Amino acid sequence: MDSICHINYLCRTRVISNRFGEPSQSGRGNLSFNSINLAKLGIEYGIVNGREERDIDGFMDKLDEVLDVALEGLIHRYNIQCEQPAKASDFMMQNGSWIGGEKLRPNEKIGDLLRNGSISIGFVGLAECLKALFGVHHGESPSAWKVGYSIIYYIKDYCDKKSDEYDMNITCFATPAESLAGKFAKLLQDQYGKIEGVTDRDYLTNSFHVPVYYEIKAYEKIEREAPFHKLTNAGHISYVELDGNARNNLQAFKRIVQYALSKNMGYFSVNHPIDKCLSCNFDGVINKECPICGESDEENISRIRRVTGYLVGNLNRFNSAKRAEEKDRLKHK
Ligand SMILES: [Zn+2]
Repeated sequence: MDSICHINYLCRTRVISNRFGEPSQSGRGNLSFNSINLAKLGIEYGIVNGREERDIDGFMDKLDEVLDVALEGLIHRYNIQCEQPAKASDFMMQNGSWIGGEKLRPNEKIGDLLRNGSISIGFVGLAECLKALFGVHHGESPSAWKVGYSIIYYIKDYCDKKSDEYDMNITCFATPAESLAGKFAKLLQDQYGKIEGVTDRDYLTNSFHVPVYYEIKAYEKIEREAPFHKLTNAGHISYVELDGNARNNLQAFKRIVQYALSKNMGYFSVNHPIDKCLSCNFDGVINKECPICGESDEENISRIRRVTGYLVGNLNRFNSAKRAEEKDRLKHK
């Protein structure tokens, strides 16, 4: 089970609705989340790994089981967190970072206040899961998309039902999987070897994203991913990748952003490479060498790229799974 479900933390988390008060983003947040390895479930019940018929019922039963394990772990941790005295997170409680924190005395338990926060169940590798189940992912096939949507809808629905049952904010998260994308991929390769389109890369695809290596137009990527934003109420992000000329075509840039907004995306980003030659200060796209001064030493070229939610000063600082993913990224026209 431990390779299906894993704990991690990240930046795109955003919780708005609150069953204990007005919807708000400040003074609260995700307390913790567990992530499900959907690719593994896909392999276990799909038409790969020697199996000739896919077993959707088996898949859903296993998903139920994994959801329960994920939630149980979160509740266990939540109860430990609730027992903590205010002084254990003194800065957060005294500086308005958590609703009502300033009213607590140092030894008072924070339990009641944490109810305003949320615990979340996330997922990684929807694309690889569908590939294992159907041989195509949700960018390639509308019918695979429908199944993908219903899987994530099911997870969101589970979270909603459990929110009522436990009287807590329990939410569905589009896990960014910075290091987890690589860790899960490695575990799957060790267990199942390299399965084409499923485990043959050093990373799994982020949450509900269409794979970065799949050629798709920007507007189509937005259309495929936007409906998932509404389901992932613990946080999400979608990107399109443009080439370095984006800044010379602001009209196109604006149209893409407006299109994403029109599709109700909650968090959207346009990525384009920004390279800087540290020898002559040229800034633009640098392939092998600087077009101005010919600098080719990578030490003297800064390459800014996005890893999951945030920009990173230099590509060299990505972990190996993220470097492999960045290398595969295709631009969206
Ligand atoms: Zn230069």
